Amino acid sequence: MQKFIEAGYDVVNFEDKADIYVINTCTVTSIADKKSRQMIRRVKQQNKDAIVVAVGCYVQVAREKLEEIKDIDLILGTKEKKDIVKYAQEYLKEREKIVSVSDMTPKDNYEEYGLITHTERNRAVIKIEDGCNQFCTYCIIPYARGRVRSRLPEHIIKEIEKISENGIKEVVLTGINLTAYGTDFAYRDIEQIDCNKSEEENKEKLKDYRLIDLLEDINKIPKIKRIRLGSLEPTIITDDFVERLSKLEKVCDHFHLSLQSGCTETLKRMNRKYTAEEIEEAAARIRKYFPNAALTADIIVGFPGETDEEFNQTYELLKRIKLYKIHVFKYSIREGTKAAVMENQIDGNIKEERSNKLLELSNKYEEEFNNACVGKTLSVLFEEQDGEYLKGHTTNYRVVKVKAKESKLENEIANVKIARAEGLELVGELAKSETCQWGRRFLTTCQ
Ligand code: SF4
Repeated sequence: MQKFIEAGYDVVNFEDKADIYVINTCTVTSIADKKSRQMIRRVKQQNKDAIVVAVGCYVQVAREKLEEIKDIDLILGTKEKKDIVKYAQEYLKEREKIVSVSDMTPKDNYEEYGLITHTERNRAVIKIEDGCNQFCTYCIIPYARGRVRSRLPEHIIKEIEKISENGIKEVVLTGINLTAYGTDFAYRDIEQIDCNKSEEENKEKLKDYRLIDLLEDINKIPKIKRIRLGSLEPTIITDDFVERLSKLEKVCDHFHLSLQSGCTETLKRMNRKYTAEEIEEAAARIRKYFPNAALTADIIVGFPGETDEEFNQTYELLKRIKLYKIHVFKYSIREGTKAAVMENQIDGNIKEERSNKLLELSNKYEEEFNNACVGKTLSVLFEEQDGEYLKGHTTNYRVVKVKAKESKLENEIANVKIARAEGLELVGELAKSETCQWGRRFLTTCQ
């Protein structure tokens, strides 16, 4: 989008008639594949003369299938995406279908598309990494997105400094595999970062630079007040990592763990690199340094071969570590993966049953977590006016609302004394003079 804006194009809403439609295809699940194909057909119905460009992961793994769809004019791979405007202009001249999809290689760099960030009013989502080397047996992403490519810290810091000058106070760091951030610097061709240094010197500087180093650097940006992290794997939650993390006053105490299962045998079949025991240790480490942390996790139920006993091990582990929310996914076959051809695929009814059981647990813990907030004073970053309420989030990602109209507090951080829980939201009153009791207290105006 940024590339088109820079070239003088106007960006319109998806429902409006456009001359060029760019479909960013996804291939994480078979349903995502289907949606990508449906979207392509839909835009052609909106404007039969429009140019339809398909980019993204589905293109990278299923180029031949997309070539068969006559409605697509341009099919561009991940590497070609940065030249999207050039390709569109070429097409406009010749009006001949263009297909250009290069293979991804381990040495490829992170593709910088300029300073692009998804921003809400006062929160910005910053992508710091792409690709994955892990090859979990159920996942197509390493084939679709290529190997780990970390964005250079200088570029990330520059982007965050810029948006913080425009009023953004909270950043959310995301990536395909955030845990792997920096692991590729040692073997990639590092372009000149600091012009006074040679490529070798730059390489030396980045060789051991990891997610925690980046967080320490972002924490120093004065106008950024909160830093959130996307999914983390238990493997990154070492004593050193959590201890250093706990010293960064802007890091929010909300951690989403990519667990997938709580049973060591199932994890092995998934090709995940940790055990159930290590999950428990990781959760305990987080709680040691962040006592009020909200822990959430992704769990897949019904993975091939998951017996009742294995599922129960997951269930019991989740009960012990008491997450505040569980995102449950019923395993679905992803063509082209190892798990798709594994024996003992699980019946849909069993998946449904296991999913319901985990969702029940999740709802119970979410309610308990919310109720535990009642009577506490929490630090809230106010984001929007919703009717008579001003709404925002706590450091551990609870939605809080206070009665206030057109308050000067929008985009500000303040303390709120929680009076009651209303469904998934907390209702309270401003508590200017009180110290906050939950969440990371040094983020607020209180001391
Ligand atoms: S870590 Fe596993 S699930 Fe996550 S992107 Fe990589 S291969 Fe896929």
